[in-house]
Amino acid sequence: MNTISEIVSRSTFSAEDLVALLSTKGAERELLHAKARQVKEEHTGKKIFYRGLIEISNICSKNCFYCGIRSSNPNVVRYDMPDEEILEACRFAHANRFGSVVLQSGEIQTKKFTERIANLVKRIKHFSNNELGITLSCGEQSLETYRRWFENGAHRYLLRIEATSRELYYKIHPDTPKHSYEKRVEALEFLKDTGYQTGTGVMIGLPFQTVEDLAGDLQFFKNFDIDMCGMGPYVEHENTPLWKFRDLLLAAEERFNLSLNMISALRLLMPDINIAAATALQTLNPLGREKALTVGANVIMPNLTPLKYRKEYLLYENKPSLDEDSELTLRNLEARLIAAGCEIGHAEWGDSKRFFKRIEK
Ligand code: SAM
Ligand code: SF4
Repeated sequence: MNTISEIVSRSTFSAEDLVALLSTKGAERELLHAKARQVKEEHTGKKIFYRGLIEISNICSKNCFYCGIRSSNPNVVRYDMPDEEILEACRFAHANRFGSVVLQSGEIQTKKFTERIANLVKRIKHFSNNELGITLSCGEQSLETYRRWFENGAHRYLLRIEATSRELYYKIHPDTPKHSYEKRVEALEFLKDTGYQTGTGVMIGLPFQTVEDLAGDLQFFKNFDIDMCGMGPYVEHENTPLWKFRDLLLAAEERFNLSLNMISALRLLMPDINIAAATALQTLNPLGREKALTVGANVIMPNLTPLKYRKEYLLYENKPSLDEDSELTLRNLEARLIAAGCEIGHAEWGDSKRFFKRIEK
């Protein structure tokens, strides 16, 4: 059996190595985190980058078993932010020297939605003189739709695979054509083929998930050669089918630590990708995102959704910053980041270095 200090000094990792890294505790965990921070600084630099997150609509045609805004949850008041409010939030991001915004929504596959997003992307590019980078996170779409949005100026896309084990995937999604595992993977391929910086990720600490599953997720990311990753802890929500399995979950602190270990292990495995500090980390630990930025993550997505909509985008319980407006959220965050020793890449896109190496190949 190899020691953790041997494993962290390698550049290739077996499934067994990854399981060992994910299972670290105490001093070994500190070693893993310190090494991941060093690798991040060597390969992506010291800076961390902001993406202003705008949750533009909670209308969704899907029924993922974990998600609070799934279509069968009758307790959600559905909203669709008017274009002018979305643009206002983007103007706030631009004025506050964010390099990029992320437009996120439930999954809507209509021609009207496709055209609306295409038009919004164009307007954001126009008013910001192409200074704002745009990431989209609007679920699975056709190749044509992805192309249309890309041609209009979106250049990054986030689509979590959620769980790369097919068996686990169908424990957390209905087994219907609309929730097909194969279609999810195909959508990720469409994104790559279109030319997006392609991001994916998983939830960590799901019921039925093993540490071997998580090691398999890391190997999937490596084999797929992703450019970006957004992964965070699974957090339960009462009005979802997975709620009844909450007794199977790791305690919040363990789930949090496992999430940090995933981030660090992925940084060692893929030194030059972008890794986001997911919002759900903050639910399990008030300084969770800041901590993630010190153990391998290099991107943070402050929530710029107008306050009146936030409580209706409740993916999981205790979602943070429901009652803090964007300006206050930002001021508090900036102070905490500086205290955590982070340098902020104001007004920079902060693109994935991996992406440029990948397309050169
Ligand atoms: N509808 C799009 C999609 O599914 O790709 C984008 C929006 S969706 C709300 C964004 C992410 O929220 C999902 O990829 C999922 O991983 C995460 N999410 C949903 N429910 C969650 C939960 N209970 N705990 C943690 N993350 C959750
Ligand atoms: Fe819809 Fe995305 Fe939630 Fe699934 S995770 S129910 S696709 S918003």
